[in-house]
Amino acid sequence: MDAIHEPTHGARLTIDLAAVAENWRRLAAEAPGGRCAAVVKADGYGCGLAHVAPALWSAGCRTFFVAHLSEALAARAILPDAVIYILNGLLPGLGPTLIAHDLRPVLGGQDELAEWAHLSDTAGQRHPAALHVDTGMNRLGVSVAEALALAGDPIVERAGIALLMTHLVSAELSGDPVNARQMADFARIRSAYPGIPGSFANSSGIFLGPDAHHDLLRPGYALFGGNPTPWKPNPMRPVLRLEAEIAQVREVAAGETCGYNGRWRAAEPRRLATLSMGYADGYPRAASGRGAALVGGVRCPILGLISMDLIILDVTDAPEAARGGRATLIGDGLDVDTVGRAAGTIGYEILTGLGSRYVRHYVTGHDA
Ligand SMILES: *Cc1c(COP(=O)(O)O)cnc(C)c1O
Repeated sequence: MDAIHEPTHGARLTIDLAAVAENWRRLAAEAPGGRCAAVVKADGYGCGLAHVAPALWSAGCRTFFVAHLSEALAARAILPDAVIYILNGLLPGLGPTLIAHDLRPVLGGQDELAEWAHLSDTAGQRHPAALHVDTGMNRLGVSVAEALALAGDPIVERAGIALLMTHLVSAELSGDPVNARQMADFARIRSAYPGIPGSFANSSGIFLGPDAHHDLLRPGYALFGGNPTPWKPNPMRPVLRLEAEIAQVREVAAGETCGYNGRWRAAEPRRLATLSMGYADGYPRAASGRGAALVGGVRCPILGLISMDLIILDVTDAPEAARGGRATLIGDGLDVDTVGRAAGTIGYEILTGLGSRYVRHYVTGHDA
């Protein structure tokens, strides 16, 4: 069995940039008439913006979405020629910084629209932006009624609106009637703004059919291997592999417990492995007693409470388990969606919570 070769670290995270690029191409191919952007907020869903952004650019991606100005500035430093949108919109007074770095706000309200238009007027030059229309989230965006009332108003041109955008409430629940209602509302908005391209679909939205595609796809999660179609098998290539070193293997007798508060008790003699990784590495403590890892291809349940730096596995059925060997916590079919479910959350939170304590390896291709 391979050792991890990083004895200074307890675990290793391997990120396959070729898989990220292939996932982008695969999503782009779902909507042959539309272009495909990449949402790379939260440090590229925890995968490392500095690595994933150039990989996506090389694959052909030219438009990127982030959440904050700080993220946009980081992206701009890496991608001098990309179109970069800031999803969280225009915070008061930040306009000049956006303009200085050629960043585009996704304007989420009439006050933002007015502030951006005013900046363009003062500069004597139009700066492009997107207009976010709220079709159901009640989070950001002008209402459908406001958007319809604004259509044809000179402020739309003064604010350089170059993209109309909305966001799905339940894209991953393909049968939810809210999807059809949002599609109908967005189609109405689009026809009120002839000539302005539209962006509707996140990862899951892309799989809701052609009416969801419009001009610019906006996937994030699926680029990083998350399943955009929870109602069927994952069409994306896995991106992550998370492996932890086995620090010790020990036997316990019937009646013994392991870990804090003795949360797990052996009903019969068992063989345990202690992994050199814990919740401080970003592996969720909420997966205590519910998650699993693979040792030599055998599924080994996590026992008791996950510690800050250690995880205990039941390796009774995994004869390969040995000190200095490794356990796979993500990879080999154990995907981020499964880990998310075990922790009572979603794979998105697993990705964005990926720690910085383990050593990271970036690879391109099948050496992942
Ligand atoms: C995060 C986000 C996306 C990407 O969503 P995924 O489900 O990760 O594909 C798209 N649009 C908006 C507005 C977002 O906030």
